[in-house]
Amino acid sequence: MSLVKSVQVAAHPAARLEQVIGGARQARLVRAAGEFRARLGGRTVWNVSSTAAGGGVAEMLQVLVGYAEDLGAAVRWLVITGDAQFFAITKRLHNQIHGQAAGGPLNGDEADHYARVLAANAVELLPRMRPDDLVLLHDPQAAGLAPALAACGARVAWRSHIGVDWENDATQGAWDFLRPYLDAADGYVFSRRQYVPAWVPAHKAWIIPPSIDPFSPKNQDLDGGTVRAILATMGVLEGDAPGGQTAFVRSDGGTGTVARPAEITGEGRPGPADPLVVQVSRWDRLKDMPGVMAGFAGHVAPGGNGYLVLAGPAVTGVADDPEGAAVFAGCLLAWRDLPAAARARVLLVTLPLEDLDENAAMVNALQRHAAVITQKSLAEGFGLTVAEGMWKARPVVGSAVGGIVDQIAPGTGILLPDPRDGAAFGTAVRTLLDNPGQASQMGHAAQDHVRGNYVGDLHLLRYDEMLTALISQG
Ligand code: UDP
Repeated sequence: MSLVKSVQVAAHPAARLEQVIGGARQARLVRAAGEFRARLGGRTVWNVSSTAAGGGVAEMLQVLVGYAEDLGAAVRWLVITGDAQFFAITKRLHNQIHGQAAGGPLNGDEADHYARVLAANAVELLPRMRPDDLVLLHDPQAAGLAPALAACGARVAWRSHIGVDWENDATQGAWDFLRPYLDAADGYVFSRRQYVPAWVPAHKAWIIPPSIDPFSPKNQDLDGGTVRAILATMGVLEGDAPGGQTAFVRSDGGTGTVARPAEITGEGRPGPADPLVVQVSRWDRLKDMPGVMAGFAGHVAPGGNGYLVLAGPAVTGVADDPEGAAVFAGCLLAWRDLPAAARARVLLVTLPLEDLDENAAMVNALQRHAAVITQKSLAEGFGLTVAEGMWKARPVVGSAVGGIVDQIAPGTGILLPDPRDGAAFGTAVRTLLDNPGQASQMGHAAQDHVRGNYVGDLHLLRYDEMLTALISQG
């Protein structure tokens, strides 16, 4: 069995982006693609990551590689294999890059294991590549491949999808471990300028924020009837699910339907006209779901109508995320402790993961139906849920941390200077619930902001610029 697998991605028709970005931007993309193909000559651009499905990196590569395919650029995607120990090591590096020291520094045996797994993958990778090819290594899992690839003449960039605004012993530990590998790279890509560590030479650092795909099951347009039918099927909205109206377009272009219920903890159910305050997150301490609940119960529920929906992935049976189950259990306890009147208006929702497109359509419906979307994170790399909510013309109340600060521009949502300030959170949410006109204006400004900054054509053009610089260094 081979360690390195090629991921086949269906071409995503780039022409359909025109509906969203307009003719001028579409033409610029097509022109840039033609010029990029010419510059590329016989070279191939290889993405190397550690998983083909699940997680933001895989989701984004599916889209970007799909558009590149349609635009005729030779962009490929390979996935490497590791064992449980390898992924435990890379998860620790991931946490360290987020400034969390849990697990301590990696020891010599762990360093050897990381090197051995990547050396075995490199043996299979190298024969696929030609000396002048361009390689994007994604995240700590693939970082250690840089020296072997560079030694064979490839031009290598490391793409970090994570980071924090500051440095501490934990981030220092991660860089001490990764630097001997990463020094071999010719470029370094981060989502925010603040995430670039001091050791990266300024001229080799590139800032490329993530993007959303307006046509994915997560973000595609759904009419109001479909949204309500999906929410009723999930069991979030009161009443029986009207049959047959839960259709959406799958990632591969086929038709899907939402058929599964979500698992819901809640005493009552909102009716279709009740305003919803929604936060969609993994069950992660840094997303502060209990803080959202406390802020809603203390400062939103007493003043008027509205329900809070906290939604995240199903936790039962997710063996590799014990923390998710523990955080969800903490939310259940906090929910039981809420004052009765507030508890009746708070729903904890876990979304089935059997069918990822269906899961995405559920998130889409929740975000579209929301009167207000919140992302009260204590720390955040980028915060795709913010861009997703803004794209749906929803007003977002988000903590002023990490990438949320970049996304919520003045007038496009409300930034909370102190993520732990429940009263300020409540006031912001209440203001938007009580002023639908202002909320709607903000939502539309938010959608324009996402269109202007976080749609795939811009993401591709930023990669074009970075890869062009790598080619010209060669
Ligand atoms: N998400 C999802 N299903 C869920 C919960 C979250 O698809 O049940 C998605 C969410 O819509 C977003 C991503 O997971 O696209 C989370 O990305 P984000 O950058 O917000 O946070 P991260 O989880 O990477 O810290």
